[in-house]
Amino acid sequence: MDFGEPEHIGMLRESIRRMLDRHATREQMAKWDEEDKVPRALMEHIRELGICGMTVPESFGGTGRDVLGTMVAVEELSRRSMVIATLYLMNSCYGSMNILASGSEEQKQRLLPQLADGQLLFAYGLSEPDVGSDLASVRTRAERHGDKVIINGTKRWCSGAEIADYIYALVRSGEPDARYKNLSLVLLPTNAKGIELTHIPAMGARGLNTNDVSLVDVEISIDDVVGGEDGWNNGWTRLAGPALEVEKLEVAAMALGIAAQAVDDAWEYSQQRKQFGSRICSVQSIRHMLADVQTKLAAARLMLYRGCWLADNNLPCSAETSMAKMYVCELGLEIVLTCQKIMGAYGYAKGFDMERYVRDMLLMPIIGGSTAIQKNNIANRMGLPKS
Ligand SMILES: Cc1cc2nc3c(=O)[nH]c(=O)nc-3n(C[C@H](O)[C@H](O)[C@H](O)COP(=O)(O)OP(=O)(O)OC[C@H]3O[C@@H](n4cnc5c(N)ncnc54)[C@H](O)[C@@H]3O)c2cc1C
Repeated sequence: MDFGEPEHIGMLRESIRRMLDRHATREQMAKWDEEDKVPRALMEHIRELGICGMTVPESFGGTGRDVLGTMVAVEELSRRSMVIATLYLMNSCYGSMNILASGSEEQKQRLLPQLADGQLLFAYGLSEPDVGSDLASVRTRAERHGDKVIINGTKRWCSGAEIADYIYALVRSGEPDARYKNLSLVLLPTNAKGIELTHIPAMGARGLNTNDVSLVDVEISIDDVVGGEDGWNNGWTRLAGPALEVEKLEVAAMALGIAAQAVDDAWEYSQQRKQFGSRICSVQSIRHMLADVQTKLAAARLMLYRGCWLADNNLPCSAETSMAKMYVCELGLEIVLTCQKIMGAYGYAKGFDMERYVRDMLLMPIIGGSTAIQKNNIANRMGLPKS
């Protein structure tokens, strides 16, 4: 068992931190949070780091699959903001990982080189107004007319749709009561006729550009059904494939990054703030809180990196990735709330990043499969009888 961090991971962390300090400072991030808009142009600086190829094989222009490297990139970007990390995810995970796992050969040839070069962004269009955890009940309709597909319906909470090139959407391509059958995944070009976006404001994840997406007679070609002809009515197996395991790790990595930065901020603050003539870091209750969050952070990190190791080695990891998703997100929330307490009123006020970490962290146990859904999966995968 080796707990050492590979050299390339250390270099990756350094280069991302340097990029953020130049192009996405804390002050800039606070402004983007206030305006509820992170510019797509930031993707250019992420692209320049050369990290967009870590989910793409060399044969398609990438640098080869590196799940740990990808998750460390997400963690480091999330230290500044999970919204910045989402830009990267929209490229390397929602885009590359899904096309690699589920795309047709033609789609791989057409899209992977551009994705590996950081040129394309995908948004996820899974949820709908009446569809959350139960994705097999999607209602957005796709009808086949020869080589054309016509789509009608509404997608909800589609993050990044305003800046994406494609929406990776789950649609009903057959009978509505067929549940897991008769579903397809489609690539909707965001500039297609019939697509209308309505921004949805939220308490956190501000800047993520989350949208309702209305789809009225949107026409695509069969070439944009994920998997091509084979993917028609075969969307569910593609959705629940290997990319799903890594998707759970992505949210865990975001939570870890936010928590790590919250701990660093609280640690530093405790050494600056003086009350009753002494720095608050000398007060035992504060010292214990800081010792607690450091310990929880270390445990969360181990949980996430173990999931990455299993995925990198192509080992079965459905229960383990659910454990990582659930544990890191729930523990991350405990960590940021403790850090906020350490900073007293300044942890609550605008002008410090702590209140944003809390707002953003509250989202982590909800997205990418809620905590309850992960618990269901763990019990099911580990063979616990249901009756
Ligand atoms: C800011 C933001 C961004 C988002 N971005 C995207 C995006 O880009 N693309 C996208 O497709 N979606 C996105 N979502 C939607 C997100 O994925 C859903 O919120 C999530 O899937 C949960 O669905 P729901 O909120 O409708 O909850 P519901 O499924 O309605 O669940 C409500 C509650 O019931 C519990 N519950 C439900 N079913 C079960 C069960 N079987 N067993 C135990 N408990 C259960 C849940 O845990 C939860 O506590 C986003 C959401 C937000 C808030």
